[in-house]
Amino acid sequence: MDLILGCDWMEVPYDVVRRDVKYPRLVFRGLKLLVILPHFIKSPEEVVTMNRAWIERKWSQIQEAIKDLNTGDCFMIFGEKYHIENSNVEKPSILHEGKKIFLNRGNRKHKEQVIKALKKLLEIKLEEIITKYSFKTGLKPKKISIKHQKTLWGSCSSNGVINLNIKLVCLPENMIRYITFHELIHLKRRKHDKIFWHTISQEFPNYKEIEKELQIHWIRAEKLFQNLLSDS
Ligand SMILES: [Zn+2]
Repeated sequence: MDLILGCDWMEVPYDVVRRDVKYPRLVFRGLKLLVILPHFIKSPEEVVTMNRAWIERKWSQIQEAIKDLNTGDCFMIFGEKYHIENSNVEKPSILHEGKKIFLNRGNRKHKEQVIKALKKLLEIKLEEIITKYSFKTGLKPKKISIKHQKTLWGSCSSNGVINLNIKLVCLPENMIRYITFHELIHLKRRKHDKIFWHTISQEFPNYKEIEKELQIHWIRAEKLFQNLLSDS
């Protein structure tokens, strides 16, 4: 359930979930606060109030990360800014030359069509990247599937399928390459152990920085998809 934190000091969208835990826990999932409560705590009010300083600090970091995207009319494709034009067009379109996305926001079909077009763009990009890395590493996924994942950029299942998030379409190419390579290496090394990170570091010596940057990109990608899919 989506709620707005009804305090006078700020409005933070949050979800409450109840789990078999001893203590309450707060985490930010992208643009939303997740309040995890043990079953015996009835209301989130007290936990939220007690952690007000932490929530405020995190929330302002999030706002800082998306401050240039707040006008609501921008999207990003492969790290480049596109302007969303809400107009009475019959068909939606993505113009790469002028960096514009035309769609009628009131039309749900238009949004589906734009998502489909973005998926196609990402598929082409991923194919190119995977071909190169498969040649280099000898690792080949059985299948690549692009999904709307809520918390992950990508995952690798034990049957050799690599799932990648549609949000990758917003990222600069080096980030897409990193995530793809990371999941590809999981085909032979499931865990994030020393050997795994050593293999990663041979292609991406700065992988620690990239991992950090990806946290910011996650928040930005959430905002960009909100922009694209909003009704107004
Ligand atoms: Zn991993």
